[in-house]
Amino acid sequence: MRALYWFREDLRLEDNPALVEMCAAADEAVFAFVMPDNAEWSRGAKRMGTYRRRFMLESVAALDRALRAHGNQLVVLNGNPDEAIVEAAKTWSCSAVYSQRCHSYEEEIAADHVADALPHYTFEGATLVHPDDLPFDVEHLPEIFTRFRKKVEKGGLIVRDLFTVPGIPPPPADLPDEALDLEVPERMSGLPKSTMRFVGGSEAGWKRLRHYFWGMKGLSEYKKTRNGMMGWDYSSKFSPWLAWGCLSPREVYHAVLDYEEEVEQNESTYWLIFELLWRDYFRFIAMQHGDHIWHKTGLKDASRNPVQHHPLQWKDWCTGNTKSAYVNANMHELRLTGFMSNRGRQNVASYAIHDMGLDWRACAAWFEHWLVDFDPCSNTGNWLYVAGIGNDPRPQRKFDVDWQAERYDPDGVFQRHWNRLGEKFPLDPNDVP
Ligand SMILES: Cc1cc2nc3c(=O)[nH]c(=O)nc-3n(C[C@H](O)[C@H](O)[C@H](O)COP(=O)(O)OP(=O)(O)OC[C@H]3O[C@@H](n4cnc5c(N)ncnc54)[C@H](O)[C@@H]3O)c2cc1C
Repeated sequence: MRALYWFREDLRLEDNPALVEMCAAADEAVFAFVMPDNAEWSRGAKRMGTYRRRFMLESVAALDRALRAHGNQLVVLNGNPDEAIVEAAKTWSCSAVYSQRCHSYEEEIAADHVADALPHYTFEGATLVHPDDLPFDVEHLPEIFTRFRKKVEKGGLIVRDLFTVPGIPPPPADLPDEALDLEVPERMSGLPKSTMRFVGGSEAGWKRLRHYFWGMKGLSEYKKTRNGMMGWDYSSKFSPWLAWGCLSPREVYHAVLDYEEEVEQNESTYWLIFELLWRDYFRFIAMQHGDHIWHKTGLKDASRNPVQHHPLQWKDWCTGNTKSAYVNANMHELRLTGFMSNRGRQNVASYAIHDMGLDWRACAAWFEHWLVDFDPCSNTGNWLYVAGIGNDPRPQRKFDVDWQAERYDPDGVFQRHWNRLGEKFPLDPNDVP
């Protein structure tokens, strides 16, 4: 049997259940990735900004190298994803398509369209806990994270074993052996050398993991440092590799267990798993609610706050020109690195919604454009949570940003650093759609 493997949010060969299934079934295989078309969103900006695009292209190139080491290669397609996949499957006479199951609405629709044309087998691989191992059906997901966590942890968390790289089937004899032609955008010049720069691909993800765990023993202190804001090492920074599937959450989990055995087990080592459960939870919410998570009123019947788009104030927020120096510094960091700390994200989101009265969807779209680790489930889930229309038991999740700045940036080092760079490299408000 000849099959087509469609890489989506799983840009890796290791611990990839869908890939294992395909390799067991197929004698020959075509491996494909469809380049996102950088489509416009409602306010005219490109959905994928430079940082994520570069990370994605590096990850795609790394995947191609890994496949070539196993005697195959990656074919990069363009156009509408489902049409491109069906077309490629027909061109190379593949009788089935295999892929990892995605949990966000648009991606699920695309998967269904492929399934309308030919057999399309999808497998879970993006979450720490397999949905079938949950002690309830996803439709009955507890409405509150703590209840969810307690239920999945009761009697011991079930995390499946890792898969090793399967035997990769060879390509069809007539598949042209063409080198990938990827234009990786240049890094912005002039920023301090210490500025964060994420490199795509599994190897780079593992390098980061080894450094954070065994190199600097950051995992031992994670719970104490994770609310930091400056630099690389206050938190794991695994999110971009997890978002593209260069690392699987199970790989991180099993690495935590190894660390606990070899170095130490403490509250911090557990807390990284706790955060991976948050990531799972937002995925299960997306599975449960489908496209409802994008609605103005989120998971509720009515908004807790007036939801209205204010283009001018929104631009001030986007460009880091609000009345809060703390919010501005975070917004500058986002557009100059593609990253913002979790503390920063919570504050700028709260400020946008509760202090400026902005429409959370426009702000979430700005995050989608800039974040190197953008993940539709985690991004939307967190925005809903801060807006009080997600799964938060509290009606408001309003942060006092001045108090937060005092607490988390007492000497103002973070604010001075990013506000100075924001002034040096301003974003022209005309470039904001
Ligand atoms: C408004 C808002 C938008 C966000 N958008 C995204 C997004 O698009 N993509 C994304 O991966 N995360 C998002 N987050 C969650 C969180 O901020 C990032 O996952 C985290 O900052 C990434 O840094 P890290 O890898 O060092 O995290 P660590 O603190 O080291 O945590 C380890 C991993 O746990 C997961 N995790 C941690 N916190 C959360 C959380 N609150 N929600 C979901 N997963 C979590 C991530 O996969 C992370 O890599 C958002 C948070 C907010 C408040």
